[in-house]
Amino acid sequence: MFEISRDRLVNTFVDLVKIPSPSWQENEVIRYIETFMKKRHIPVEKYPCGDSYNLLVRMKGSNHGTPVLFSCHMDTVTPCENVKPVVTDKKITSDGSTILGSDDKGAVAGFLEAIDVMLETSMSCGPVEFLFSCAEEIGLYGIKGFDLSTVKSRYAYIFDSDGTVGNIILQAPFHSTLELNIRGKAAHAGMEPEKGVSAIRILADILNNIPHGRIDNETTVNAGVISGGRATNIVAENSYCKLEVRSLNQDKLVTIENEIQTISKKKAEEAGGKVKIQRKLEYSGFSLEKDDGIIQMAIKSMSKVKIKPSFGISGGGSDTNVINAAGIKAVNLSSGMQKVHTTGEYIMIKDLERVAQLTLAIIDTAKDG
Ligand SMILES: [Zn+2]
Repeated sequence: MFEISRDRLVNTFVDLVKIPSPSWQENEVIRYIETFMKKRHIPVEKYPCGDSYNLLVRMKGSNHGTPVLFSCHMDTVTPCENVKPVVTDKKITSDGSTILGSDDKGAVAGFLEAIDVMLETSMSCGPVEFLFSCAEEIGLYGIKGFDLSTVKSRYAYIFDSDGTVGNIILQAPFHSTLELNIRGKAAHAGMEPEKGVSAIRILADILNNIPHGRIDNETTVNAGVISGGRATNIVAENSYCKLEVRSLNQDKLVTIENEIQTISKKKAEEAGGKVKIQRKLEYSGFSLEKDDGIIQMAIKSMSKVKIKPSFGISGGGSDTNVINAAGIKAVNLSSGMQKVHTTGEYIMIKDLERVAQLTLAIIDTAKDG
């Protein structure tokens, strides 16, 4: 079932990973996808976003069926210049000096292979959409800058999770950031320190008293950036801290945020200083059940191509979070990438094939759904 071409798929993947595409610099990958589609007379919708573009490809299909979207991102983390893919019998790695870029070009290549098979076999299908987003790695900027009302699909399958193909991410956290700007009072540190209020000491006091690290099995807090002060002979007038809070449970997220805000204000006031707090929801979480239609469709499709489903929870965000928040049921599936964001990154060729096969199987299942 679904006769894909292993050689063609590996070649596409190798072509793609050789193209450097750090966030916002996806131009050449975009050109590659455009050329691919042009050769096959498939129109590409190109949506400007920041310094780059998101691409949407629609295949009308011959049947009605459930409209489905497949999504992946085109950018990679660094170092991604001069990737020299090493292809062995079973797996593909870089030469060890860069990342490989299977995150997320394994999915890009898999989708392109699926499209070729659809065309070659005149596969009957319902409406299918493919979304290639930009600038995912640095904060989901591509998908956040994309008008998702353009998408007609009811279900969205995002192939952007690590591990062997078959893993289904049922839950991912809400994620917010808090920026604390603390103001104390400057004074000469040697002559009249009594007249100063140290913003650095206030921040230290705050950090000593707020919840931090793992709060419970679904909630974490991390103070990741601090700065402040100007010189040792000045009582520090300003300090700054950026924290993040993540939780699978939105109520817990809000409770922790409130606690941090209350403690910060109290500690600043006690010391005679002030704190300004800016809170930003980076993305919403999602939670899916195994009997949800989107998951059932994935499981049924996996059985068609002999992939064993497994289930997981993610501690991080992906385009999936944003698509779900826009009201389209979306799930993150593993795309075979391993040891991502390291120079030891690799992908098994079998998994690369499975991405294409599973994509085709989902398209096949959706046409009857
Ligand atoms: Zn990714």
